[in-house]
Amino acid sequence: MPPEPPVPSVLAALVTALRDGSVEVVDLTSPLSAATPVIQLPPEFGQTAVFELEEISRYDDRGPAWYWNNFRSGEHTGTHFDAPNHWATGKDLGDVASVPARRLIAPAAVMDFSAEAAQDPDFLVEVDHVKAWEAEHGPLPDGGWLLLRTGWDARSHAQEPFLNADENGPHTPGLSADCARWVAQESPVIGLGVETVGTDAGAAHSFDPAFPCHSYLMGSGKYGLTQLRNVAELPPTGAVVIAGPLPIVTGSGAPARVLALVERS
Ligand code: MN
Repeated sequence: MPPEPPVPSVLAALVTALRDGSVEVVDLTSPLSAATPVIQLPPEFGQTAVFELEEISRYDDRGPAWYWNNFRSGEHTGTHFDAPNHWATGKDLGDVASVPARRLIAPAAVMDFSAEAAQDPDFLVEVDHVKAWEAEHGPLPDGGWLLLRTGWDARSHAQEPFLNADENGPHTPGLSADCARWVAQESPVIGLGVETVGTDAGAAHSFDPAFPCHSYLMGSGKYGLTQLRNVAELPPTGAVVIAGPLPIVTGSGAPARVLALVERS
């Protein structure tokens, strides 16, 4: 009897593919600095902090051979992960440290509405848009992410174009209330990823319910990823997202490094 052929190692194949470029790593994360845009709530509410560095020492009297900083940040500052307990509807569900590690590596369905959002910054994705995408590309991935491409990352260099607010509030694209409910309650995805400052559309303060993505997703134990960039580099199907939020115990979310693995032929 000839010896059994060796079982091919998936991870060895991945390492080879990363090295030869047939699997590319796309960084979906916005850099964190004091200039990183943050959400602005009406003045009667508490506000999230902008990111700040506080130098401890820089090869000087305070530490001759080393440089390091303290930092201050909101949990929801920059590219970040929304945990279920972020919203009242999910208050008894998990904190960000409790998200199972295996759920942090998951396939992505990428839908491109950048043309629609360029025409109308208040553009809303409806269930029919998602169903049309599924008719072309197949069903949404079980346990995966729905990533919304809107072109909004091109505005992420500064607060004003990114929030795009006027006297009526912010104008940024997102999901309709009905679509948010469908994604949360009827689709198999674990969450929604967006290029905008939050998972909800800018006008979602006046939707029914208000902030339906937060309300329905968190209430269903699902997640959010925000302020993504480079989503344009992902194919409609086949990318694998690696989302790494800081495991802040009891936290409602955390800044995250978000990467995607993409197979290039
Ligand atoms: Mn958030």
